[in-house]
Amino acid sequence: MNSLLLTGGRVIDPANQFDAVADVLILNGKISAVGNRLATQTPGEIERFDATGKIICPGLIDLHVHFREPGQTAKETIASGAAAAARGGFTSVVCMPNTSPAIDNAGTVALIHERAAQADGVNVFVTGAITKNLAGEELAPIGSLKKAGVVAITDDGHCVQNNDLMRRACEYAKMFDLPIFDHCQDYSLVTDGVMHEGYWSTALGLRGWPSAGEEMIVARNILLAELTGTRIHCQHLSAAGSVALLREAKRRGVPVSGEACPHHFTLTDAAVAGSEKFWGADGKILAKSQGGELPEWPGYDTNFKMNPPLRSARDREAILEGLADGTIEILCSDHAPHCDYEKEVEFDYAPFGITGLETELALSLMQLVHAKRISLPEMIAKFTVNPARLLNLNKGTLGAGADADVTVLDPEAEWIFQAGDSASKSKNSPFFGWKLKGKAVATIVAGRMVWSEQTEAVVV
Ligand SMILES: [Zn+2]
Repeated sequence: MNSLLLTGGRVIDPANQFDAVADVLILNGKISAVGNRLATQTPGEIERFDATGKIICPGLIDLHVHFREPGQTAKETIASGAAAAARGGFTSVVCMPNTSPAIDNAGTVALIHERAAQADGVNVFVTGAITKNLAGEELAPIGSLKKAGVVAITDDGHCVQNNDLMRRACEYAKMFDLPIFDHCQDYSLVTDGVMHEGYWSTALGLRGWPSAGEEMIVARNILLAELTGTRIHCQHLSAAGSVALLREAKRRGVPVSGEACPHHFTLTDAAVAGSEKFWGADGKILAKSQGGELPEWPGYDTNFKMNPPLRSARDREAILEGLADGTIEILCSDHAPHCDYEKEVEFDYAPFGITGLETELALSLMQLVHAKRISLPEMIAKFTVNPARLLNLNKGTLGAGADADVTVLDPEAEWIFQAGDSASKSKNSPFFGWKLKGKAVATIVAGRMVWSEQTEAVVV
């Protein structure tokens, strides 16, 4: 068990700067060897998987997902979220702490670890809260969270507004060698905004969420990272100004980093006005990838409401440039499931967020690799070695002796994302009906295939 020979794929392992056609031998859940003609040295009883024409890479890591357990299991459970991750090609995910109750104590961390063990699929890592109940008033017990096994602290979904409290959080986090993840949102600027503040918010009569509401906190975090030496990771960047700030700070050696989600570098705020406006205004290049039939949706569709919001075409371009020049080194989904009845309300009242685990690989391939902005190995690094380094995880590599977490993917496979195919409990994706290019073929965790296209079933 937990041994497997993958043959004939193009092996891309950015951690070891390896890119060649080769076999990968997994023995007892660990990578044993990567090389040519391993079949002759492999005992006959070991199962084989023919990866000819496919890509074999370290298991993909998504360091930003919301699995809603405990407390909101109608939206998603750890088991259903893990199934969606496996289907999307992800072998490791990192859960955000805005559950109910929040992950601000060691007991809740233990509960999630237990549920993940029961689900027995992908690796589920946990972040702890920065402040108790994510209220932004009093620090959570950061030391005991670390002892319980959290990999970072964040108030994601919320943002600590008090700069002195954030500074103290940085100092504690540094003592415990934990990175801080921050959802960058200045409440006084954003107030009750529901979409990007610009032409379309005015045209649609919706309250605006200005880019400065994100950029202000990115600037704050740069100053605090510089002051305290703590690693601060800015989550789901959406605004051009954030990218410019981060680029300049990284040039000076400030320990900050950033992530981007496919919806922010694929869609724009025009999408909130409906498909016709989007394809006519900002979707012209993308329309080619959809062939003759463009996906349709009405104006005010709440599957285009997320936090931070979809922004202008200029912001989308800046995020793409930031990914291309290495300013943004991590890709993730911000997978945020919500029930139909919660989303089927007026735009103002709907919760922020969309699912993303099953589409992020394809959209990243389309917008970054197929669009010739970055190479395939560069994209894979943003899903593997880069997040592993930030989190100090012994993952994201195919080096001998590493955990055998492996993703096999076909970057050229064309498919249409259908609601019925999703393993998530929630169906709040804006990408149903889209023609996508590129997908996972098999997801292997510790040498065991937890999902494969051939079986189309999650093995649990
Ligand atoms: Zn967030």
